[in-house]
Amino acid sequence: MKYIGAHVSAAGGLENAAIRAHEIDATAFALFTKNQRQWRAAPLSADTIDAFKAACEKYHYQPGQILPHDSYLINLGHPVAEALEKSRDAFLDEMQRCEQLGLTLLNFHPGSHLMQISEQDCLARIAESINIALAQTEGVTAVIENTAGQGSNLGFRFEHLAAIIDGVEDKSRVGVCIDTCHAFAAGYDLRTEADCEHTFNEFARIVGFQYLRGMHLNDAKSEFASRVDRHNSLGEGNIGHTAFSWIMRDARFDGIPLILETINPDIWAEEIAWLKAQQTREAAA
Ligand SMILES: [Zn+2]
Ligand SMILES: [Zn+2]
Repeated sequence: MKYIGAHVSAAGGLENAAIRAHEIDATAFALFTKNQRQWRAAPLSADTIDAFKAACEKYHYQPGQILPHDSYLINLGHPVAEALEKSRDAFLDEMQRCEQLGLTLLNFHPGSHLMQISEQDCLARIAESINIALAQTEGVTAVIENTAGQGSNLGFRFEHLAAIIDGVEDKSRVGVCIDTCHAFAAGYDLRTEADCEHTFNEFARIVGFQYLRGMHLNDAKSEFASRVDRHNSLGEGNIGHTAFSWIMRDARFDGIPLILETINPDIWAEEIAWLKAQQTREAAA
């Protein structure tokens, strides 16, 4: 069973994310549980939590179909102690918000060395940041997203994801989310079925599908191996339709949220319908 959706807006109340997902016939969704460009947010009220849970129940979204994303400000590998502390506090708050909402996954970008520490040191800091948050929460898995490798962002090599996982004590609560645009921009080709086979064989060998907790399905405006992060609508970018059809027909992507972060929300319903149709393409042919 494939869970397919988009990163929908939670404007006007977290429950609206579930309503908006339902409106586009999504069977999964992503959301920010607070303003993603601010450090602080008011604590979740009991009313907000109840309304969110009620909407998820009404529209049949289980926690495993929901992939919340943390704030863009957080850098769990920050080279400076004080700033690292601030990020770790904010990340713990994000994990606790998920816990309160009954959610089981939290998707985040690993972190950046800012040219001040080695990659290895930065990856170790990220793992330690995850350990600190996991020790203070229950039931929420930390889901590391691969990046395009823009600037000094780590997580653009599968080896980075593996190194972080290696440093996490509780392997049962760490996972990864692969963003197809980020992978392509980082130099993992996806343009043909053979490219997809090769890239995900590499993923299986270096990270392992047992850690795959979600996918971001985005085409790329960025060029192959450009290390530039620019999303596009499915089939309209440099990846093309093939990869997305291939993913929909591969059982290794079953049972996890598959989330569009494509650039035109007006066609999300169409993109979701197209993705759903790909699952039975071979059977129909
Ligand atoms: Zn992301
Ligand atoms: Zn993404």
